[in-house]
Amino acid sequence: MGDADSRAEVLILLGPPGAGKGTQARMLEERFGLIQLSTGDLLRGAVAAQTPAGMAAKSVMEAGGLVSDDIVLAVLKDRMQAPDVSRGVILDGFPRTDGQAAALDGMLADTGQKVTAAISLEVDDEAMVGRVAGRFTCASCGEGYHDDFKRTARQGVCDKCQGTDFSRRADDNAETARARLKAYHAQTAPLIAYYEKQGVLKTVDAMRPIAVIAETLQSVVANGAG
Ligand code: ADP
Ligand code: ADP
Ligand code: ZN
Repeated sequence: MGDADSRAEVLILLGPPGAGKGTQARMLEERFGLIQLSTGDLLRGAVAAQTPAGMAAKSVMEAGGLVSDDIVLAVLKDRMQAPDVSRGVILDGFPRTDGQAAALDGMLADTGQKVTAAISLEVDDEAMVGRVAGRFTCASCGEGYHDDFKRTARQGVCDKCQGTDFSRRADDNAETARARLKAYHAQTAPLIAYYEKQGVLKTVDAMRPIAVIAETLQSVVANGAG
């Protein structure tokens, strides 16, 4: 990478399950031409493809725990090799531990880059269980929906691609959602202080409607983390 102006954006979306990371990442991707990198999606892909990493991750994901840093970093590094990521990335669901955050800083330093902004989506725990339990996704294009908060315009038809197949994640039940929330508080929430120290933290009230949060995030990205 050359001078600071040409440096690619590296945005991090932090927040518990259901905070809206995936929803907002897709909107930022469209608006700014950035690439969404979701370690959850990458891991679900590895599970479906039955790769060694996927086979090791499967039971941990089903229980709502965190997959080991080694496995997560392996799938992420693999994806980071692809040429499209040079346009800048939105990390959705990564890093989730101190070790992952340190590894990310190391990877970026190798190419003279830094985290541009770490955006913490702040939400109430109790609302998160309902967000996760009502979540469903278009099987064709991956657009995310919610039974109450983001319905398709036409019943059973994806707004984006007109697809009619939808899926729900096995780990999106109330019990596993609580385990995931616990893992978030124990291992991921401490990263808020880590990025505050780096001077790149932005906190956003993510209990507001999707479109309102999207506007806030657009101005954060357009104006820099400052
Ligand atoms: P959510 O959208 O609810 O935040 P994700 O799709 O990001 O969930 O992650 C689903 C599951 O995949 C997690 O519960 C965890 O088991 C695993 N996972 C995803 N990203 C990571 C990560 N960075 N570190 C460890 N485990 C991860
Ligand atoms: P995450 O990636 O952080 O786990 P998602 O973006 O998948 O979260 O959002 C979880 C669920 O909540 C989805 O069904 C989504 O449509 C819905 N949702 C996202 N943001 C909001 C919001 N601000 N208000 C209400 N529902 C939301
Ligand atoms: Zn679709």
